[in-house]
Amino acid sequence: MSKPIVAIVGRPNVGKSTLFNALAGEKISIVKDYPGVTRDRIYADVTWLNYQFTMIDTGGIEPESKDLMLKHMRAQAEIAIETADVILFITDVRQGVVDSDFKVADMLRKSGKPVILVVNKVDSFEKFMPDVYEFYNLGIGDPVPVSGASRLGMGDMLDEVAKHFPESATEEEEDERPRVAIVGKPNVGKSSIINRLVGEERVIVSDIAGTTRDAIDTAITWQDKEYVFIDTAGLRRKSKIKEELERYSIIRTVTAVERADVVIVVIDASEGVTEQDAKIAGIAHERGKGVIIAVNKWDAIEKNDKTIYEHTKRIREILSYMPYAEIVFISAKTGQRVNKIFDIMDVVIQNHALRVATGVLNEILMEAVAMQQPPSDKGKRLKLYYITQVAIKPPTFVIFVNDKQLMHYSYTRYIENKIREAFGFSGTSLKFIIRERK
Ligand code: GDP
Ligand code: GDP
Repeated sequence: MSKPIVAIVGRPNVGKSTLFNALAGEKISIVKDYPGVTRDRIYADVTWLNYQFTMIDTGGIEPESKDLMLKHMRAQAEIAIETADVILFITDVRQGVVDSDFKVADMLRKSGKPVILVVNKVDSFEKFMPDVYEFYNLGIGDPVPVSGASRLGMGDMLDEVAKHFPESATEEEEDERPRVAIVGKPNVGKSSIINRLVGEERVIVSDIAGTTRDAIDTAITWQDKEYVFIDTAGLRRKSKIKEELERYSIIRTVTAVERADVVIVVIDASEGVTEQDAKIAGIAHERGKGVIIAVNKWDAIEKNDKTIYEHTKRIREILSYMPYAEIVFISAKTGQRVNKIFDIMDVVIQNHALRVATGVLNEILMEAVAMQQPPSDKGKRLKLYYITQVAIKPPTFVIFVNDKQLMHYSYTRYIENKIREAFGFSGTSLKFIIRERK
């Protein structure tokens, strides 16, 4: 099930980071060593009581001047409007309502997206409540007073947020069409690929109407089958500010991947696979999606009979955490092998939703254990009792053992390989949950 996306928007120093950290706790995904946004946490998975959502912070960089501030605020709001289910607009009770707050509030109101107006730094309700009422002037509903620093009002704020979450059985999940996200660094050719895919020979059914977010998805028919390409409008968005472009690229990736079944990670053949590609691919991996690596601009490089092998080897090295990913070499410019993406996608989608019968799984488990003795520690040997598949998308298995501590990562890997030998599961990660049974 795709999790709702909550975006934080607000001026510098209103307390966005503090609030983000208060909500995210330990589970912050820091995109390290990322030029321009090194210190930033851009997104985090939040679990708060019964709520689960992905939180994104749209405002990472501090604009250099007052003039740039409004531009920066607009860019933040646009990203939030485009990607989020619910927007948290953060203001500061100590600074009061300022001019740019009005401008941003106008933008958010016009978007029709659910917006929660949060007034931060209300460290004492008694002292600051009179100042909170001023925020009604923004015309975007009741201000919710909080203090990120002392974690006051968090529950009430989240209750307001959750009111706007889609019901658990959303239309999106009833929709049987495969959902595809095309992701990758700026300029690797994502828009060119989508343009190629919607080329004359295929029928674009429509820009799908419905919820606001669906309006930017595109349905493409290929050999009588429909595929929904997520956030195709986002592919065309370009920003002139480098830091903003990179931040936006990550936000777009997280939000599109969240809604996808299968993710096409585009790499530029003329540059080769980079660390930044690895970070983007890592988002698809960590979210358990089907993954296809499309090496684009294949027309632009000199090739001999070893080129494919060399590229594959390098990709396997850099993306070592996803040996299961399918790789395809394409050119959006000439159209070479672009159609092959559909065939690979069908395989990946099937594997992502594949269920294996418990009986067969246990045969594999027993055979694997017989072939390679499980590890032991201090005279106690690991025993594997039983395996069963409990979920799909991604296929998720529970293994019952005598002692969890003894189940080393490498032995889980070994079992995974045995399952892959039998069923392939190419293009999808597999998830293993280890449980103890006394
Ligand atoms: P950001 O620029 O919006 O991410 O803001 P920060 O989270 O970095 O916070 C800016 C400043 O406000 C820091 O000095 C924080 O300590 C302070 N701050 C954040 N939240 C609160 C709060 O709830 N109460 C008070 N009094 N200060 C806060
Ligand atoms: P995006 O930022 O990932 O959406 O990338 P674009 O689709 O805008 O492409 C960036 C640049 O790469 C443009 O100048 C494209 O013309 C060029 N480009 C895209 N695909 C190919 C390709 O297959 N071969 C070559 N030679 N250039 C390409």
